[in-house]
Amino acid sequence: MNYHKYYPIDVVNGPGTRATLFVSGCEHACRGCYNQSTWKLDSGHLFDDAMAQRIIDDLNDTRIKRRGLTLSGGDPLHPQNVDAILALVTRVREACPGKDIWCWTGYTLETLSDEQLQVVELIDVLIDGKFEQDLADPSLLWRGSSNQRVHHFNEKATS
Ligand code: SF4
Repeated sequence: MNYHKYYPIDVVNGPGTRATLFVSGCEHACRGCYNQSTWKLDSGHLFDDAMAQRIIDDLNDTRIKRRGLTLSGGDPLHPQNVDAILALVTRVREACPGKDIWCWTGYTLETLSDEQLQVVELIDVLIDGKFEQDLADPSLLWRGSSNQRVHHFNEKATS
């Protein structure tokens, strides 16, 4: 897996102060996508073990307290990203107790493969669906268009 950007401190992609990873690779090609540079799987930088460890260290940093990890892109659930994302969320779950994980995807929950659902089982919040320009609404919280949905799997991660 490749990633485009990593923000060790982020306050706009999910609630509270977070660490946010934007992965490379997206096959949805939404009209009006604000992140087209992330579409190619081989764009950006290699996501390696050192990067995963950096994220874990940042989440456990007691000087700047992060509420959790945000996964965005690109699409973290792109079939070619799922293995690496599953490994990452498994590690974060083990190494960062109390941190929440939010994930944005262009797929809808009902269409996810078993492997993609393994990721969903380990996260707290999934925002799903393509960005639909005709349904865009800047007043929506955490969503760009009204067809997208915010699925909460953990009440503590709902705000
Ligand atoms: S799912 Fe997101 S990154 Fe992919 S094309 Fe749509 S808006 Fe862009």
